[in-house]
Amino acid sequence: ALHWRPPVLKEVNEGCKMCITFIPGEPQVIAGNERTFTYDYIFDPSTEQEEVFNTAVTPLIAGIFKGYNATVLAYGQTGSGKTFSMGGTYTAEQEDEPTVGVIPRVIVMLFREVEQRKDFEFLLKVSYLEVYNEEILDLLYISHDKSSQINIREDPKEGIKIVGLTERDVVCAMDIVQCLEQGNNARTVASTAVNSQSSRSHAIFTIVIEQRKKVDKNHRFCSKLHLVDLASSQRQKKTKEGDCLKEGININWGLLALGNVISALGEEGNKGGFVSYSLGDSKLTHLLQGSLGGNSHTLMIACVSPADSKMEETLNTLRYADRVR
Ligand code: ADP
Ligand code: MG
Repeated sequence: ALHWRPPVLKEVNEGCKMCITFIPGEPQVIAGNERTFTYDYIFDPSTEQEEVFNTAVTPLIAGIFKGYNATVLAYGQTGSGKTFSMGGTYTAEQEDEPTVGVIPRVIVMLFREVEQRKDFEFLLKVSYLEVYNEEILDLLYISHDKSSQINIREDPKEGIKIVGLTERDVVCAMDIVQCLEQGNNARTVASTAVNSQSSRSHAIFTIVIEQRKKVDKNHRFCSKLHLVDLASSQRQKKTKEGDCLKEGININWGLLALGNVISALGEEGNKGGFVSYSLGDSKLTHLLQGSLGGNSHTLMIACVSPADSKMEETLNTLRYADRVR
């Protein structure tokens, strides 16, 4: 999906021109003088968050209750609307606000579905982690400094296991919101030359849903839902030397690896979900392994600004999204 936000005040004040147009009735956009790009969904600036959710995300939630895994990823440069789209900074006070994003809407829908399935028992667990400089930080761990104790292992039965990661049992929407709020307080936000609020890490919010039929305990399955606010995608040439440069390289390595894995999974004849993850040897792709192809539905929301001053990065995002589709 392409989510193309309205201009923000700063862009309006700077007199930016709008550089994206769309073809009415077609899932296509034209950016600058470039060719057209086609996506499964195009959400123009007038699109309400509810419509984004209902159109693109609800089919994934429906899949969860049939035993599929699901992953929603927000991709784009700093300020393009990733966090807005994902609703990653949602707090309980924002309840009922029409602008809230994917995560709070998913939470509401999950419990509504659970309520309706009276013949099933459910066990829901939440984890929240951040990948920063190829290190994994457990955002639900109380002391915030658990990176060295977390390991990714491949379990032949259960797939990827993240050893040492906190998993919280949750029984209601409020429990999940509290996990989100707690994790957000722990997120790394450092300033860069590009943007003082830029999220330079990938944030992965995961809900595991185990379901078991009450009359037949052997009839059970387990689905995983990853909701991912990816690190901002701008190339690292704009950041300064030293640590920031290393960070820029690591971030882009993760996004590059992710692009390689998703596009390999999407290739004709590869619907079984077998790819060499060495194509994308990064923490991000290892964590998402098993949740991108095969038994899994994946939605990428590519976020862009409409302003001509962001044209170069916008084109990069459009190309990336085109490649992984
Ligand atoms: P990112 O997480 O990609 O850095 P943000 O989600 O923080 O970007 O968005 C940057 C700014 O643009 C914020 O002020 C946000 O409220 C605004 N914004 C983003 N997407 C939209 C949208 N679809 N509609 C209205 N405002 C938006
Ligand atoms: Mg953000």
